[in-house]
Amino acid sequence: MANSPFNNYLVRLKSASTLLGLSNKEFKTLSTPNNVFEKEIEIERDNGQIESLKAYRVQFNNARGPYKGGIRFHPKANLNEVKALALGMAVKCAVVGIPMGGGKGGVEFDPKQYSPKEIEAISRAWMRAFAEHVGSKKDIPAPDVYTNGAIMSFMLDEYEKIVGYSDPGMITGKPLSLGGSLGRDTATAQGGVYILEELVNTLGLRRKDLRVAVQGFGNAGYHAASILHGLGYRIVGLSDSKGGIWSARGLDPEEVNAVKEERNAVTEFYCKGTVCDMDKLMHDEAKIYSEKDFVTCPCDILIPAALDNAIDAKNAKNVKAKIILELANDPTTPEADLILAKKRAIIVPDVLANAGGVTVSYFEWAQNITGQRWTEEEVRDKLKPIMLKAFESVWRLSKEKKLTLRNSAYFVAVEKIATAMRDRGSFL
Ligand code: NAD
Repeated sequence: MANSPFNNYLVRLKSASTLLGLSNKEFKTLSTPNNVFEKEIEIERDNGQIESLKAYRVQFNNARGPYKGGIRFHPKANLNEVKALALGMAVKCAVVGIPMGGGKGGVEFDPKQYSPKEIEAISRAWMRAFAEHVGSKKDIPAPDVYTNGAIMSFMLDEYEKIVGYSDPGMITGKPLSLGGSLGRDTATAQGGVYILEELVNTLGLRRKDLRVAVQGFGNAGYHAASILHGLGYRIVGLSDSKGGIWSARGLDPEEVNAVKEERNAVTEFYCKGTVCDMDKLMHDEAKIYSEKDFVTCPCDILIPAALDNAIDAKNAKNVKAKIILELANDPTTPEADLILAKKRAIIVPDVLANAGGVTVSYFEWAQNITGQRWTEEEVRDKLKPIMLKAFESVWRLSKEKKLTLRNSAYFVAVEKIATAMRDRGSFL
């Protein structure tokens, strides 16, 4: 199968469906999205020109609960990718056992080339295009790549104007002022760390012996590096879209973040533009990596927290980590999976590793529809057992059936989704 994002997910869905003994007809129903909406949305640019952009919402599966999934603003957003991510959301919600299905949305454009006023217009136009399909009991969007709380606020406002009533649970990732949840910012990283800690204990490893490299220094990557550093892991590598840094002595994510905030690249920690501070590099036993090669840096735990396909057939053979915690969605291609499995690397798959994000989004929705406000401590206390239970069931099954953690996670999820579909009569 070609390496399109949707095919990557289908390969995984197919192998779990085969293991579970689903018929071809059942697999076809399971792997077909319920609804695919594709529209042209129009906005007025600041120069007065009218522009038309491609916008999407895919509702993959709602057998276990309302559709749930983010909206991506990206120049490469396309239907294949949105379908893949919508399927991934259905799997993820089932792995952690939250009562939600899978959906995803997007707009194909480069937000970096648009003013804040234009981005607001695009956000409101997306909602006008899809308002009839979303709602707190139907389909609940959220932020994804290059969308944030401010965009969720515009979308909620536009939705409530259209329907004429208040429905804050129709979208998550909102600011606190509009019903957002405490603990959402760190949820993805924190959820991944709960799982990593459990894995490290299960394997009988010691934190202080483990070197960690994190690819991507945004919401997921920065918080993961920061939490792990606080727990005593040695953070040896950090990277962003401009390149990576590696130090045998270890890096302090807060110090690197201060430089990144000021000068917009983690490599600036050692270099100013192309001129590097050789004394500092030697003192820290440090090295600069290109953004592409970073995943091959020496480390015990690699955390891809940037984009999809970061580890592929070309670089997988040079990956040194023995544990890979996928905070990004779909960072490892199926070919790379095979190469890493031969090297006996343990991959904690995205649908488990980064599911803390959607779990706290579900908490936000639950608070909104019941009119509650939970403290940050309550959010953490509810998140931890959900993540640990999911890890335990995926780990146990992987041992029982001799599966990779990815295949085991898909097995756990497909069993739950297929059971719900069968109980509804969707397979008849
Ligand atoms: P973000 O936009 O906050 O950060 C992305 C980071 O990746 C940035 O630092 C960017 O510079 C870096 N980056 C981009 N291209 C890179 C490259 N080629 N090499 C190295 N770094 C690169 O995004 P985020 O919210 O942290 O999301 C990151 C990944 O995690 C995405 O795949 C997203 O789908 C996934 N994810 C995030 C959440 C969440 O709650 N934030 C939840 C689930 C999954």
